[in-house]
Amino acid sequence: MFHALVVEKNEEGKTSAAVQELELDALPDGDVTVAVEYSTVNYKDGLCVGPGGGLVRNYPHVPGIDFAGTVEASDDDRYKPGDKVVLTGWRVGEAHWGGYAQKARVKADWLVPLPDGLTTRQAMAVGTAGLTAMLAVMALQNAGLKDGPVLVTGAAGGVGSVATAILGHLGHEVAAVTGRPETADYLTDLGATQIVPRADLNETVKRPLEAETWGGCVDAVGGAMLARVLGQMQYGASVAAVGLAGGANLPATVIPFLLRGVNILGIDSVMQPYENRLVAWQRVATDLPMKKLEAMIQPATLSDLPGLGRDILKGQVKGRVVVDVN
Ligand code: NDP
Repeated sequence: MFHALVVEKNEEGKTSAAVQELELDALPDGDVTVAVEYSTVNYKDGLCVGPGGGLVRNYPHVPGIDFAGTVEASDDDRYKPGDKVVLTGWRVGEAHWGGYAQKARVKADWLVPLPDGLTTRQAMAVGTAGLTAMLAVMALQNAGLKDGPVLVTGAAGGVGSVATAILGHLGHEVAAVTGRPETADYLTDLGATQIVPRADLNETVKRPLEAETWGGCVDAVGGAMLARVLGQMQYGASVAAVGLAGGANLPATVIPFLLRGVNILGIDSVMQPYENRLVAWQRVATDLPMKKLEAMIQPATLSDLPGLGRDILKGQVKGRVVVDVN
């Protein structure tokens, strides 16, 4: 038997989530059974703990798009009992049962070995949000970061906090956009050199080009803010488009692309090939100071998850939640 956060849907289509005790037989098919130690809360988890946002196919469902733990049984040569592993992405926690449970069963292809230098708790403090922040920074580096401040939108959230800490550690000036002025000290401690109030970037695009300000951008917000930011990028600079916390529409003009050679780099963490995942996790272990990661952590248990899911959808979670599922 094991504990899991189970989401059920009633006949009226309403979902509800509660911790339940399940039998091992209830786990879905897979090659590797993992004793989960930690999980976390990403924006998508907020959707899957609640009404699903179209991501969950079947109920009852166990959410949790990330987990880290120890292999308990394996039918695959790559893993043996006792190995420490991490899972992010592959639609686990959406189409497949996820990490909000003491046990998980998944395909071996979806796992990566726990990166050297990280504990399972630290790996979940990073989670999908942090891995995506790392992928975004790597994409900006490949495209060529310009001199001058790198803008991070949704800075006090999960992706934004990790991006701020990594960019600061790499020696960049970081301009952190936040709608929560009370997080200014937190963001400065992570590595922000400038706090940009969300309201400064909230207006819709009036002029397609503004002063060339940002040498790069990690954007977790999308929508009107991304449209506005495009017109403020330096000549040839790039925006890593990660999220849609502020909306999926992009009410922009093509002028910044045509007259300033600005680039949008799309970042997907879910289907990243195995080799790229290994590189990104290794970069996390070297480029993200663990002291800064520790400062982002809010601890939680399975029973806290319904509330935390609602909070993250309202943009009210600061930094990274680490869920001790045991
Ligand atoms: P969080 O909720 O932790 O962070 C989002 C932050 O965005 C909030 O903390 C808030 O920051 C800001 N924000 C929220 N609502 C608005 C709004 N209406 N307008 C402007 N800013 C807003 O979520 P995550 O960091 O986990 O995820 C961020 C986004 O990235 C999500 O859309 C998520 O789906 C996406 N994502 C994409 C991935 C990929 O593979 N492409 C992987 C992981 C996440 P503040 O209070 O500082 O303003």
